[in-house]
Amino acid sequence: MSVKIPLQPIPVLNFISGHFKAGNGFKQNIHSPHNGALIGEVHHSTKDDVQHAVQAAVIAQKKWAATPIKERSKVLFNLRQVLLRDLDEIAHLKSSESGKTFLEGKAGLLKGIEVLEFATSLQNLDIGGKLEVSRGVTCEYRRQALGVVASITPFNFPAMVPFWTIPTALALGNAYIWKPSEKTPLTSLKIAEAMSEAGLPEGVFQVLQGGIETSQALIDDPDIQAIAFVGSTPVARQVYQRGTQLGKRVLALGGAKNHIVLLPDAQPEIAGPGISDSFTGCAGQRCMAAAVLLAVGDVEIHIQKILERARSLELGKDMGALINKSQIKFLNQQIQKAVQEGAKILLDGRNAVPPLGQENGNWMGPTILDHVSPDQDIAKLELFGPVLCIIRCKDISEAMGIENSSKMGNACSVFTSSGALAEKVISMASTGMVGVNVGVPVPREPFSFGGIQESKFGHGDITGVSSLDFWSNLKKVTVKWDQQHDNNWMS
Ligand code: NAD
Repeated sequence: MSVKIPLQPIPVLNFISGHFKAGNGFKQNIHSPHNGALIGEVHHSTKDDVQHAVQAAVIAQKKWAATPIKERSKVLFNLRQVLLRDLDEIAHLKSSESGKTFLEGKAGLLKGIEVLEFATSLQNLDIGGKLEVSRGVTCEYRRQALGVVASITPFNFPAMVPFWTIPTALALGNAYIWKPSEKTPLTSLKIAEAMSEAGLPEGVFQVLQGGIETSQALIDDPDIQAIAFVGSTPVARQVYQRGTQLGKRVLALGGAKNHIVLLPDAQPEIAGPGISDSFTGCAGQRCMAAAVLLAVGDVEIHIQKILERARSLELGKDMGALINKSQIKFLNQQIQKAVQEGAKILLDGRNAVPPLGQENGNWMGPTILDHVSPDQDIAKLELFGPVLCIIRCKDISEAMGIENSSKMGNACSVFTSSGALAEKVISMASTGMVGVNVGVPVPREPFSFGGIQESKFGHGDITGVSSLDFWSNLKKVTVKWDQQHDNNWMS
């Protein structure tokens, strides 16, 4: 199905205390990556807008935290129903602003809903715990909300990435302020509407539109207790430093440069499509995309399968568009430089034919470069586009040496038929997530998502069980009622 692009520009407003209102900062146009059409006008927020939203959230959060978790969870169940009902509509909107295909837009939201399902299950778990630690004396954990928390998200997953954190933070009793990417802010309007319809009390979920200044005002606000950030590594580092210097809890996920180790014993029918889909899915604009193929020994048959699959992709149908023209310019420059330095082009997606009627969009086809050397920029920089670099390696040790030298640490995969060789790669990989015969090794709930090294600043993962500790404090309560019972050092 082709993506439905809004025919009129949509005003992109803040959502504060249950109402939409334009931010008082400057305005910025949003163009669809598919056809260049003007689809939105985002009003950035000023420092005063930020302060106003945070103060409203401070008041709302107290009541929300005092609401039993089973009642809070009911709202999340309602939210799930609303999102599933509006799945197609939201998928079209998010795809129209991010460049995704309709199916990719849908898949991202469904993955977000999976985290929502995880959060609704917290009401049935003992997320605290109590023990009689000596006769008549109990110790208890009480999980308490932090207060008002914030999240700053990137352009490439306008619903999935925010939903990594929204459900759990809300389920645990926090009020949540979201600053979407100024490049893809339209989806936030639908999500805010869904929150209202689900019955979330006003002020518990707020949206502030804007860019750097809005983010910084949010981080600096003394009433913001914790910040979850997802975006590029340089910004993740800055946000982490800024927030932690103020004594705040920060988890900042950064960029990626993911390696795939391809061994000669891999099944070509699994490896070909798996590797091709990994670097072309979301037009390569995802932090789990394959970037470097470490081709060990004779894997020609597999490379032919990768090429076959990549060549068969139709732009606009199987593969989406890139976020903007400057990204295409950057990719073209990197490819040209790599070729000048000696890399060989196996598949050239530059100047690929755009879908009919979408000539003004930001299109680029799959590109594969062979005989790339590990010290070339193209082998080390995050490209964020549909480009695969093949580095030839004589054995696994050489391949893992290259993988280990990367500063990033999101994902690494191996394609093989050997459990022992897979195990070797799993144990040697310097990443937070590893795949075996899986090109995009995104863990599904309740397994958590998160890289290491320069792909993440801060402790713990952004989803799953470890996210509970990020979004709450543990209060330890020790109780004794009866004088007859033990008198010891705790008495
Ligand atoms: P970006 O870093 O440019 O922007 C991310 C967010 O930060 C946006 O909301 C932006 O407005 C805000 N921002 C920009 N500069 C800021 C500053 N100086 N201080 C505070 N906030 C600032 O990233 P992007 O281009 O929107 O997204 C692509 C990047 O995100 C890629 O590097 C990709 O790998 C990464 N990403 C990582 C993950 C992950 O899980 N590790 C997931 C998705 C995307």
